[in-house]
Amino acid sequence: MKKIYADNAATTHLSKEALDAMMPYLTDYYGNPSSLYSLGVKSRQAVENARNTVAECLNADPKEIFFLSGGSEADNWAIKGAAHLGAKKGKKHIITSKFEHHAVLHTLDSLKKEGFEVTYLDVHENGIVRPDELENAIREDTALVTIMFANNEIGTIQPVKEIGEICKKHKVIFHTDAVQAVGAIPVDVREIGCDLLSMSAHKFHGPKGVGAIFMRKGLRLPNLIDGGAQESGRRAGTENIAGIVGMSVALKHSCEIMAERNARLEKMRDRLIDGLLKIDRSRINGDRVHRLPGNVNMCFHGLEGESLLLSLDLKGVSASSGSACTSGSLDPSHVLLAIGLPHEVAHGSLRLSFSDENTEEDIDYLLEVIPPIVTRLRSMSPLWEKIIKNS
Ligand SMILES: *Cc1c(COP(=O)(O)O)cnc(C)c1O
Repeated sequence: MKKIYADNAATTHLSKEALDAMMPYLTDYYGNPSSLYSLGVKSRQAVENARNTVAECLNADPKEIFFLSGGSEADNWAIKGAAHLGAKKGKKHIITSKFEHHAVLHTLDSLKKEGFEVTYLDVHENGIVRPDELENAIREDTALVTIMFANNEIGTIQPVKEIGEICKKHKVIFHTDAVQAVGAIPVDVREIGCDLLSMSAHKFHGPKGVGAIFMRKGLRLPNLIDGGAQESGRRAGTENIAGIVGMSVALKHSCEIMAERNARLEKMRDRLIDGLLKIDRSRINGDRVHRLPGNVNMCFHGLEGESLLLSLDLKGVSASSGSACTSGSLDPSHVLLAIGLPHEVAHGSLRLSFSDENTEEDIDYLLEVIPPIVTRLRSMSPLWEKIIKNS
């Protein structure tokens, strides 16, 4: 049976280049980067070379890149750090959007318990924050704006450059969760003008459990982990050298092939969307133009996303109903509710997310298997019967 991995927004396959680059640091080169003998120096050089590579891919200075365990950790550090920095000056207001990743939303929940106030910007039907609404929400006591670069469920790309300009004008710290953007689309920290940016290796064919934060020079958040002098003393603990090396190699490769790959992915994405929209009462979620090249997110009225996923799994297709973090819960996705979908429509969602490992043949296969599955599931659905009767 054909096997198709179409859940690259949840995680990606570790690339061969990354694995090959990592292997020596999992075997022969096991020295501690803080040690002075040559085996340690070998590891130190690997970490610093990786830092240079990551910085170069983002147009950052290497001193502005700090390695850590991934996107959730970067989001926690950026948001809690900037909030606590603001609180020292009496600023306890934060602005975000309604459809951030839970690593952002739940971090804000915990800050609210400490007395911070949070404004949640609307993302409208197209899944995009409006810069004028952001500017209106900024107050004297706003410590931080945290808006994601690209949404992990519906793939919509936010106007981060305009947001960056507004934040600069009002002297508010700007963090962007760029976990879905880094490696997927061009990310230039100077062009965005952000102060803090989160990324995670396993979203661009690097290993799991490693990521980085960009922290603009001159901005000093409270240390994340106290201990040794690693990561300039701000995030102590012996480095995940193999992970860091794998991340840098995967990112470099993603950036090298990006233009050509994205042209191909956009074509595949658009053909799949057009094909699936031929299904009765289907809809595409999120803006069609300002969206990640590899993201398709559809709703099929009158069925449950979970049963669709199980049927697709039987056909060899790995997909998602939205965020990997909400699957297993019966609540519809907060992202789909944020773009205004009613509960019963949001339940029938399907996210297919692609990487350079997917092909046109995968799209052919998906267009062949999905429509009959939707028809079959609807024929068994009392909800669908009601929808048809009422129309
Ligand atoms: C995956 C993801 C995260 C979490 O990253 P981890 O490395 O898995 O902790 C955060 N934000 C977004 C937008 C993501 O897609």
